[in-house]
Amino acid sequence: TLHTDKKPSWIKVRLPNNPVFWDTKSMVKDLNLVTVCEEAQCPNRWECWGHGTATFMIAGDKCTRACGFCAVKTARPDPLEDDEPQRVAEATKRMGLKHVVITAVARDDLKDGGAEHFQRVIQEVRSVNPGIIIEVLVPDFNDRDWALEKVMVARPHIFNHNLETVERLTPLVRSRAKYWRSLAVLKKAHEMVEGKVAVKSGLMLGLGETQEEVEKAMDDLLDHNVTVLTLGQYLRPTPRHLPVVEYIKPEQFDKYKEIALAKGFRHVASGPLVRSSYHAADFRPELDVV
Ligand code: SF4
Ligand code: SF4
Repeated sequence: TLHTDKKPSWIKVRLPNNPVFWDTKSMVKDLNLVTVCEEAQCPNRWECWGHGTATFMIAGDKCTRACGFCAVKTARPDPLEDDEPQRVAEATKRMGLKHVVITAVARDDLKDGGAEHFQRVIQEVRSVNPGIIIEVLVPDFNDRDWALEKVMVARPHIFNHNLETVERLTPLVRSRAKYWRSLAVLKKAHEMVEGKVAVKSGLMLGLGETQEEVEKAMDDLLDHNVTVLTLGQYLRPTPRHLPVVEYIKPEQFDKYKEIALAKGFRHVASGPLVRSSYHAADFRPELDVV
């Protein structure tokens, strides 16, 4: 185990050299939108934006929670912006997206946790871009089924909620979220639409988990109707965040991918720079979901 912030070579990030990157950046700014790519300091942003892909963060950039791995600021959130659904829809259109990922901070200050806002954004995006694949990456809505239902009635193609880490490390890594509650959310989302959604989740590795624990998390996810899995390296956003316990080698990520596929996941993205929405468009849910 190595306790160091010195990044190995496979974590190095390419510099932006694509004009599309800068166009996207200014368009996002013009429309006054927030992207996870920037907020989470995602190491893939040069590449993804260069290809005209982005993950939109709705409902503001201030979170009511303070997870030990997350770069989003913890503060009292601003009121929801009524025209945000239209602005997100406009951005997806201008970027010509075929696949959009929509996520939000945990709005524990709102009764529905922001669920209705998700619903409006999904509906607006679909009305402007009828063919687009819509993926949502949601918080746990504090176990309120009626709130989750609001998201599901808008019929996202892919429902994503990250487990983030193994059971033992959950209290250390995640703020208010719970391991079994997150698993329940994944299962319920699937049941609410009679299985007509692809359910996706992900883990960050390098926080001190063992292979046995990772495999147990895979089994638990499969038991809760998850068929799409992402595994990526945890990177410490600032010295105030949790330290990286280990940089997992690319070969180990490959091994995890093999194990996950053998266990029964239908689509697995596993690698040091993989993020929840990384190459999201490579996965075509229409092939899996009737
Ligand atoms: Fe944005 Fe996701 Fe790509 Fe990161 S992986 S840059 S969050 S779209
Ligand atoms: Fe970050 Fe945790 Fe808030 Fe999600 S709930 S935005 S991971 S602090």
